[in-house]
Amino acid sequence: MLLKDCGKPAFSKSTISRLAHLGRAIDHGASPLVFDDGFVGLNPPTESEVIYDAPSTYTRDRPATRSRKRRSTSSRSRPTGEAEPFSSAAIEAAYGTGFRLLVRHYKAISYEDEKGLWVVIKTRPLGSDGPQAHFVIALPLRKEIWPKAWAFSVANGRRQPFPLKHTNFPDASICAFTRESKAWTPDDGILPLADHYSLWAVKSWHRWLLGRWPGRQIGVGAHYRRQEFLPDEWCGCDSGKRYRDCHLAADSLVSNDFAINEFENLFHTPYATRTVPKSILRAADTRWKVIPTLQEIYQPHSRR
Ligand SMILES: [Zn+2]
Repeated sequence: MLLKDCGKPAFSKSTISRLAHLGRAIDHGASPLVFDDGFVGLNPPTESEVIYDAPSTYTRDRPATRSRKRRSTSSRSRPTGEAEPFSSAAIEAAYGTGFRLLVRHYKAISYEDEKGLWVVIKTRPLGSDGPQAHFVIALPLRKEIWPKAWAFSVANGRRQPFPLKHTNFPDASICAFTRESKAWTPDDGILPLADHYSLWAVKSWHRWLLGRWPGRQIGVGAHYRRQEFLPDEWCGCDSGKRYRDCHLAADSLVSNDFAINEFENLFHTPYATRTVPKSILRAADTRWKVIPTLQEIYQPHSRR
């Protein structure tokens, strides 16, 4: 059975309250740090009302030691903590060092592919007693082709894809930054990518459970903004104003036909067809035992 969207995940009261505090800080311009296992925290906690049980140091300088072993579930998979090189020399050259650095900070499994590497990362962005976010990341050997990743929320035994807000068209892969922002480039490697996704997961949970995307965001075109932006969120033009004080009035004057046409010209796909590929849902459903090939995932308009 493939995953179905069964409504909102159930989080504990303390998790919701941590999410709310974190969201408020991000919405007011705080730049959280990401710690081991993707824990998102503010350090130092300068926002007067935000108090976390965040680790006292930024652990990137002091990597955690982890020797957690996971039984291989496929001949292509390798467990966290394993230090041997990848069997493919090309993958080793492209991602060997980056993956070994990643597993010092995250629980991760990798799967070698003819065209690159799959990495599945299990994170706890809201702390060790909070929900998990799992990321499945496709890393092509050819670095001019950018990674794609999908996120699943795992709480109380329920595993669900994250909502579509701030995912790409048409495959609903995570959109955690724009290329133009240079917040991440392929030379930065897998670890900072995992950090970006962990922060994205916190923002997405915040919108899902508390009704609002916290912090600055990018969103082009009237149709997209009208579909996804709430008046109280930051405007997608990055003016530093709330949507209601910026593009909302102008967007509301644009006709539906014009807005939809503009969207399809910008994104080369209809708004409503965005969906996670079935092969990725199956991968999550099998707990990462059945992983698609990179080729399947990068084929345009793949729906398998
Ligand atoms: Zn605007």
